[in-house]
Amino acid sequence: MEKIKVTKFGGTSMADAKQFCKVKSIIESDDKRRCVVVSAPGKRHDDDNKVTDLLYLCQEHIKYSVPFDQVFDIIAKRYLDIVMELELNIDIKSYLDDIKSKISKNISIDYLVSRGEYLNAIIMAEFLNYDFIDAKEVIFFDNNGFIDLNKTHEVLSNKLSWGRPVVIPGFYGSTPDGKVKIFSRGGSDITGAIVARVAEAELYENWTDVSGFLMADPRIVENPKPIERITYRELRELSYMGASVLHEEAIFPVREVGIPINIRNTNEPDNLGTIITDDIKDEENQNIITGIAGKKDFTVIALHKNHMNSEVGFIRKILSILEVNNITIEHVPSGIDSLSIVISNQQLENKLNIIIDEINKKCNPDSINVYRNMALIATVGSKMAYTVGIAARLFTALADAGINIRMIDQGSSEINIITGIEGEGLEKAIRAIYNTFVL
Ligand code: ASP
Repeated sequence: MEKIKVTKFGGTSMADAKQFCKVKSIIESDDKRRCVVVSAPGKRHDDDNKVTDLLYLCQEHIKYSVPFDQVFDIIAKRYLDIVMELELNIDIKSYLDDIKSKISKNISIDYLVSRGEYLNAIIMAEFLNYDFIDAKEVIFFDNNGFIDLNKTHEVLSNKLSWGRPVVIPGFYGSTPDGKVKIFSRGGSDITGAIVARVAEAELYENWTDVSGFLMADPRIVENPKPIERITYRELRELSYMGASVLHEEAIFPVREVGIPINIRNTNEPDNLGTIITDDIKDEENQNIITGIAGKKDFTVIALHKNHMNSEVGFIRKILSILEVNNITIEHVPSGIDSLSIVISNQQLENKLNIIIDEINKKCNPDSINVYRNMALIATVGSKMAYTVGIAARLFTALADAGINIRMIDQGSSEINIITGIEGEGLEKAIRAIYNTFVL
């Protein structure tokens, strides 16, 4: 049987009737696009609201016994307008009335919030003349809240084997006792990945409002080159920049079975976007580096203690202090008698003084210095591994730009060099690295 493509459309691609028309022409331009996963209507412009956010707001009203009709009417109008403008013969009002009547009967938050995608999928199925499949009937969670891939595979693959093209709402499935359960925010990406896996798709297309990834942040580098291909591992290393485009958990269902993901832009369908795959052949990859990502707001706790290297359990004691305080660590570069711990400021919140006290008490270092305003830059590329001179070029670029490097960390896979610098230098440093490797 010919392989299909699973196409997932995000909220901005599904925000109004105009966007629905773009989606339809994308689907109709390739007859392999037979399995469509959709989000709820997103923002139509900067000051607009996402329907999912409005549904959460509705729930807040209910929680505090404040009338929710006004918020619900705004949500209802989004769908009524889409149906009216597309001139569809579908009684969406009765679906809305049904949901509204259930709200009064204390339905679960997951059920309420999932209605954003549910209604959009019903409308899109009608518009495309595809079958609608309710995610509740085909995407299953187990008792621990994880996806039950076996059950999902059994039920969904059976439905897909009928051969009809389908639309499935993203973002939710059902628990073993039949209740609706949602993924975390942005979770329609996960639904798309699961559907692609079950459908044994040749490609998982994720249509959004950007044309894939760029080699650097366009607010820092003017007109950065697009990334045509990137490996899953590189993307993880560049997660500072990738996180907002694709839900992290959307990667594993397709990666495990070797289905590539293609990030595409609904508003620029001719742009081929970025392909994320497990492996890139050398001839497909011209660049030494794949991308540069940077982030501010890290703290470094720098410890010094004579003969630290011969003290058994020193690092364990420090790490257990962080563990007890529920703090995750970015990096732990070390010297013979020194050790630095790099932590994002967000993690530290009000815990810094407590941690310093505990380290002093339990580890008795000769000195502790805290540097609050650090930035980290990840320079990433599979081709960097085993290529001589990359680090030299990187550090020369930073030196020529007058940037002082405070920390260096090269992952053991050699596809990533992290440099820590003072926060103010971040933009200048990224531009310097980009100009050295890309221009
Ligand atoms: N509509 C949901 C959200 O806003 C899920 C999604 O769009 O992926 O998080």
